[in-house]
Amino acid sequence: ISAQLPRRCWVEIDLAALERNLKLIRATLPPRIKFVAVVKADAYGHGLPQVAARLMHAGADLFAVANIAEAMTIRELSTDWPVLLLSPVLPDEDRYLADYDLAATVSSAEEIRRFDAVGRAAGQPITVHLKIDTGMGRLGVWHTGARALYDAIRAAPGLRLAGVFTHFSSADEDPAFTAEQRQIFLRALEGMDPTGLLIHADNSAGLETTPGDGVFNAVRVGLLQFGILPHPHSMLARVHAEPVFSFHTRVGLVKELPAGTSVSYGRTSQLKRDSRVAVLTAGYGDGIARSSSGRAQVLINGRRCPALGRVTMDQTIVDITDVPGEVRCGDSVVLVGRQGGVEISIQEFSNWADTIAWETLCSVTKRVPRHYR
Ligand code: PLP
Repeated sequence: ISAQLPRRCWVEIDLAALERNLKLIRATLPPRIKFVAVVKADAYGHGLPQVAARLMHAGADLFAVANIAEAMTIRELSTDWPVLLLSPVLPDEDRYLADYDLAATVSSAEEIRRFDAVGRAAGQPITVHLKIDTGMGRLGVWHTGARALYDAIRAAPGLRLAGVFTHFSSADEDPAFTAEQRQIFLRALEGMDPTGLLIHADNSAGLETTPGDGVFNAVRVGLLQFGILPHPHSMLARVHAEPVFSFHTRVGLVKELPAGTSVSYGRTSQLKRDSRVAVLTAGYGDGIARSSSGRAQVLINGRRCPALGRVTMDQTIVDITDVPGEVRCGDSVVLVGRQGGVEISIQEFSNWADTIAWETLCSVTKRVPRHYR
């Protein structure tokens, strides 16, 4: 029913832009490089089934998700694409690896024992990617122990090794440390036979420094496929990826308030002049972070309007005194995206809330419908 109701606060997802982005990114990479589309967390809040279906059509080679539920969503679309689980598999989830033909990340001897047992019992080896910790301190076997796990996987009849990978901790901030991680990874690979394996390290920011040759033959791209650069000065700007996500709301009320009036909870903001304000039909219950209070802006009639006082659960108050033309109840407001040649980027929106684009995308709440085009 809610899909048929007039829109109050909504997200627009431009699937055609997603497809163009994937093709643009691919065009910058040697053709032999496989594209692992990272679509965890509901495809970074864009909607997993819709995004995965379009990426299948656009030519993604593999999908990477966090958990079994996300993997099953992909399996409902197709059984043809390999699916890699990036987060740990819990012991009571092991059997789903066999049931849904999923690839697990392996970081420990214990996981090797468990997954090997599942593969043997199923009579069908479980696919695994060995993860090497080169300085992230999260999943993966510490690099000095990688060879032992590699040998153990190769010796396990219930396992099929499909890849070896690492993850960069600071590819968007520290190229020197990223280069160091790359070197540690390459050294850890020495003595392993890479034939037929996917060897991968690069996330979106890693693509800036990827050698593009050598042993690497896959990339794991999340943010960039959604048209968002991992940091403002990214060299990836040359890829000209377009934002897939935009965030919208509407004007619920327009009114005049006299100078000196305090606005919203806690009276953190006092009007310095007689003002015209608009009350918007979205708040932190939709995904406008309360921490952006006092800093956020929105677009109305192609003009930036500052938010006044605290963002509340369902409503946000903005100053429209300087907006040209009429502003009426029901008018469209852009929270993230373009209006009349002006843009609020997701980075800007995230900065106001002291966060990052990745988190903003995961913070749009369930009550906000996604509309696809
Ligand atoms: N690989 C792993 C292991 C990840 O956890 C992530 C995302 O967090 C990615 C790749 C994709 O990263 P990005 O969104 O920066 O491209």
